[in-house]
Amino acid sequence: MTSPTPKPDLTPAEALARGRWVKWIGGASNHDLAALEDLAALASLAGAHCLDVAADAAVAAAARRGMAWARHQGLACDPWLMLSLSDGEDPHFRKAFFDPEQCPSDCPRPCARVCPARAIGAEGGVLHERCYGCGRCLVACPLGLIDERAERLDGAAVQALLQQVRPDAIEIHTSPGRGQAFRQRLKDIRASGLVLKRLSISCGESDGLARHLWDLHSALEAWGLPRLWQLDGRPMSGDVGSGTAQAAVDLVQRWYSRLPPGPLQLAGGTNVDSRRRLHRAEREGAVPSGAVAGIAYGGSARKLLQPQLEQAEQRGKSLRDCQDLWPSALAALRQLWSDQSLECSC
Ligand code: SF4
Ligand code: SF4
Repeated sequence: MTSPTPKPDLTPAEALARGRWVKWIGGASNHDLAALEDLAALASLAGAHCLDVAADAAVAAAARRGMAWARHQGLACDPWLMLSLSDGEDPHFRKAFFDPEQCPSDCPRPCARVCPARAIGAEGGVLHERCYGCGRCLVACPLGLIDERAERLDGAAVQALLQQVRPDAIEIHTSPGRGQAFRQRLKDIRASGLVLKRLSISCGESDGLARHLWDLHSALEAWGLPRLWQLDGRPMSGDVGSGTAQAAVDLVQRWYSRLPPGPLQLAGGTNVDSRRRLHRAEREGAVPSGAVAGIAYGGSARKLLQPQLEQAEQRGKSLRDCQDLWPSALAALRQLWSDQSLECSC
């Protein structure tokens, strides 16, 4: 079987400027290196313009190995490597845990059934590296035995990591009221000496959102950093069903006219239904054509490739080593983010 030939695509910067940007999200707390390397490889080959992964040297190295594999298959232009950071508490930066010794032996383990990352198996506790903090197991345990732990880097660790990894882009997850903490993160980035191609700012809806983002905008203006705004509709839920896609579109509809200048991407609940819903909002005049530069996909992309990942696992191989599984995996991803006919107004 011959290698699938990647279609010629735009560079990441061109994709942003032309409203055709696609970001693949590996998960800010996902440390499943084997799966991440496979997913980063296939996402790169399928034409993603950016790979957004946890701020961790081993994870970044896995993503880069995935990109190198895609290049070997003929990929013409590498996606940007983005690391995700936070300026405070954030559900993207946590892990679930429980002590399996506390569980009744006859528990039917609803926690395992709801976990989309297969981080909870038929026995034992949470597999730390697989958990990406979606929180679904926290409410699934009838005995309330599952807790969460925040996973955040301090300033010194951020600086050291950035000097080591040298990513193309960084995303900072933020919330209103954290202007000073955000500025401290900017200082950490500056202290690393890194020259960024893009700084993404990710924020969900809450009181004071517009004021907060304009405040961050002034801080970024002072530094002259190219930026990207990310509205996070319903975080970590794109694999749940098509309805979550509407949350991200609704968020844009409510907020696009109040956001600072710069390209805007949809995230949080995005899936194969996102473009259709966005185009409908554009046709109805609820969102101006060109308001959205692109879409970021996390759980929905992982769910689409889960069958191929599991087949490869059953063979004791990586997905990259199972060439017969590539066509279906690539077709699924390309269908997810094809027809990015969104014209950017930035
Ligand atoms: S359900 Fe979510 S939070 Fe719980 S273990 Fe799985 S990935 Fe982690
Ligand atoms: S649902 Fe609760 S009691 Fe049951 S296995 Fe999971 S953590 Fe243990």
